[in-house]
Amino acid sequence: MMMKNQVLPRITALSFCLFLLFGLTSCNGVSGIIEKEKNNDLISAEETVEPKDESKKEENESLLLEHEHVWSKENYQEPKTCSCGQTEGAPLPAAFMEYGFEFIEAGKTYPYTSACVMDRTVYSTGSVTVNDYRIVEAEEDFESKNGFEWRIIDWTMEFSDDNVHKYSVFYASYSYDFYDGKYYPEGSGEIVTGSHHEYESEKFFVNYFGQDIECEQRIFHDGSWRDQVCIIEGTAAISVPVGYDGGVHVFMNAVYTLSESGEIIDPKPSIAEAAAQTGNLYFRFS
Ligand SMILES: [Zn+2]
Repeated sequence: MMMKNQVLPRITALSFCLFLLFGLTSCNGVSGIIEKEKNNDLISAEETVEPKDESKKEENESLLLEHEHVWSKENYQEPKTCSCGQTEGAPLPAAFMEYGFEFIEAGKTYPYTSACVMDRTVYSTGSVTVNDYRIVEAEEDFESKNGFEWRIIDWTMEFSDDNVHKYSVFYASYSYDFYDGKYYPEGSGEIVTGSHHEYESEKFFVNYFGQDIECEQRIFHDGSWRDQVCIIEGTAAISVPVGYDGGVHVFMNAVYTLSESGEIIDPKPSIAEAAAQTGNLYFRFS
């Protein structure tokens, strides 16, 4: 089992995860409907007996309709909203939208380049495939939690060029949040022995409808050589509130995550920095 930064023969893995916040402001609709007085007089058919003051009634309705809006603050999911249901403006802009990232799709294979272990000025180019993306309440290694769901990707990297044979290769993958652009704090992960596998567990927060909600990421990865091909297989899973679509998993050239002396950089590259890099691959858990 490969742990963070552990060097297997000719394979070095770096795995990081990042996260974001989000929140939900509940604005339970206080009805904006004005209920009209019902005429419950079922006995008298003579409506002239008690004439209604229609002008006064209209005035009252008008006052109710022109109530002073009380706005909840906008968040990443909703514009500012009044209890009457009216909205104004737009939701907060998503950090990822500013940079025009393109997302990769599950089931397709993309070129992926990363720095070599023995010489980080040299790169190996291989591929990344997100084999499967699923949203489940629970499955093996991922227990159910009320109000949360698991968003899970299984991915495979393959390297077989001359450089991976000569110098081995690092890889780096992190999770960022589509909305606030943040990532998991590095160093908070713990290694957990699950039912069949070890995995890294990290806590992070998302802001969903205006509320910060604690979530969890679990990372599994392992590598081996098969027929002269270096194959790394991983699973990245996030436990998020049901419906939350802000997780983004990034496969990054490890050169961007290491210092001159080979230490893992903390903090990790910001979204703005990542946008200026070339070759990163972004998968959104949407
Ligand atoms: Zn209102």
